Amino acid sequence: RLRRIGLTGGIGSGKSTAASMFRELGVPVLDLDRVGHAVTMPDSEGLKALVQAFGERICHTDGSLNRRALADYCFADAERTAQLNSIIHPLIWQQEELWLARQQADYALIEASVLLESGGASRMDQVVVLLADESLRLQRVLSRGRHDKTAFRAIVARQCDDAMRRRLASYIIDNNGDLAALRDQVGRVHTQLLLC
Ligand code: ATP
Repeated sequence: RLRRIGLTGGIGSGKSTAASMFRELGVPVLDLDRVGHAVTMPDSEGLKALVQAFGERICHTDGSLNRRALADYCFADAERTAQLNSIIHPLIWQQEELWLARQQADYALIEASVLLESGGASRMDQVVVLLADESLRLQRVLSRGRHDKTAFRAIVARQCDDAMRRRLASYIIDNNGDLAALRDQVGRVHTQLLLC
């Protein structure tokens, strides 16, 4: 049976960067955040269920999902967050199963930003966690240009802390160094994953 290995870490910890290094080693990687987008595309079952639950306030005027509005509305309230997850998670897991069934490899990586927060670690055989200091992550995220400092802080506040990441990790990759140091660790973790 194909082993499923989670790849996670806080915002700006280097998940996408590490994922592409694993891909170069021939490892199949599924970007679960991207799957989350796909299952809420216009006309999808997921978007219809969300609108039914939360109303048109979560949509742009053209009817497509306004992710920012959805996050603001749902993450402000624990019950709404739970409801959101109960709609979206099963749709994502279904896509994950379909994708895994198509892979031929020793193991496959499931890259997800909130894997640990969503209880997803229990679906994985093992979990690889990327860690980097928050100040460095902020610096890298700002230079990437997709988020400002306020958005970074809001996302950090919704994510778990490094103590929890360390507790749930089977492997820890320290991404405080340069890209060569990251590649080095990716190679070592890959070797260990092939052995077990
Ligand atoms: P998000 O949680 O927002 O999806 P992420 O965890 O996927 O982020 P990346 O996008 O891989 O993080 O990395 C954040 C930025 O930092 C990117 O611009 C990436 O190129 C850069 N970066 C990652 N690792 C390193 C490194 N070791 N040295 C220098 N830059 C790095």
